Amino acid sequence: MAKIGSVMTPIGRKAILLGSGELGKEVALELQRYGVEVVACDKYAQAPAMQVAHRSHVFSMLDAEALRNVIEQERPDHIIPEVEAIATPELLKLEEEGHHVTPTARAAWLTMNREGIRRLAAEELGIPTSAYRFASTHDEYLAAVEEIGLPCVVKPVMSSSGHGQSTVKTAEDIEAAWKEAQEGGRAGAGRVIVEGFVDFDYEITLLTVRSCSGTTFCEPIGHIQVNGDYRQSWQPQPMHRKALKQAQEIAKKVTDALGGYGIFGVELFVKDDHVIFSEVSPRPHDTGMVTMISQELSEFALHARALLGLPVPEIRFLGCSASRAVVVEGDTDKVEFDNLEAVLREPGVQIRIFGKPEVKGHRRMAVILATDETVAAARAKAERAYNALKVIVHPRS
Ligand code: AMP
Repeated sequence: MAKIGSVMTPIGRKAILLGSGELGKEVALELQRYGVEVVACDKYAQAPAMQVAHRSHVFSMLDAEALRNVIEQERPDHIIPEVEAIATPELLKLEEEGHHVTPTARAAWLTMNREGIRRLAAEELGIPTSAYRFASTHDEYLAAVEEIGLPCVVKPVMSSSGHGQSTVKTAEDIEAAWKEAQEGGRAGAGRVIVEGFVDFDYEITLLTVRSCSGTTFCEPIGHIQVNGDYRQSWQPQPMHRKALKQAQEIAKKVTDALGGYGIFGVELFVKDDHVIFSEVSPRPHDTGMVTMISQELSEFALHARALLGLPVPEIRFLGCSASRAVVVEGDTDKVEFDNLEAVLREPGVQIRIFGKPEVKGHRRMAVILATDETVAAARAKAERAYNALKVIVHPRS
């Protein structure tokens, strides 16, 4: 039977978050609604989830020894990866020793590297994907581009949010894309994936929950990315029944193969009612922030509930909604969000400010949420609120 004891006592439950960004902050808050003790970890202090957690540890999630030390010290009931870049081989060992990783250590390990999840989906599960080749050297890269043909998309195998990603449209772009992938990848220079460019009609995230109640799907989320980084999302994305069925079948296959309990963001491209798998996050997805206004239980609440071993018998959708990411550019430790009375003037608008301590380059610092009668109206409302927002970037002191 599922039970939760008093917090901070030997019978209580303890969860450790590996990664403490804006998504982790919401997961921390949702876990705390169940009286769970939350320990937040990230490579820098004052990360968003640390600001609401019971306790925190600062270390690189890629440092296997530091990771093991913290886990052995804290002895959590749940280890919850929030970012992709984690010493996942160490997670596999910890799981073997009896620790519980959400959803599974193998899921975190396979999805940390684009190669792992792509080979699983395309080669083992037979799911349609873009054409692809992997390359470790410049010569292999040139051969891969030749085989795939132009246009193609080049990405480091270890990367996310568009880092190191570029589209090769003409032969002149080939060298720049290699250089970009070598410099922008997460784990330094290395292997890339060259993907055939998919000229999709639209792309979706299909949030898929695996819980003790079985597999449940959220309404599909449509989104717009700029250079591989999400800027707008909305729910529901209108889809033909046939395409939605295909999307759910693919999501079920992939998430069944990864296993465990929790939410998954299954990213899919749709072209002429054909669905193509892109990738999957075995955790809440940034485009899914829209669910903070569109659903009775947000993707974070669903994740918390499922991973705690509690039932998710249904997902209540409340109505057409949209989100707009607020990306701030500059080099600063002081950002001010101004003109909020205008941002929040209309009914059905919310803003979430993540509380990140600094910006170097560009960084997502907040999100605007809006709900309305139709998706178009919700998106337009979110855009009006976004345009009203004034972001002041102060010089560092
Ligand atoms: P990813 O990091 O793989 O999710 O890629 C980020 C975004 O880049 C996707 O959401 C798409 O908008 C775009 N993208 C990625 N791969 C492809 C592809 N093979 N063809 C067209 N667009 C792509």
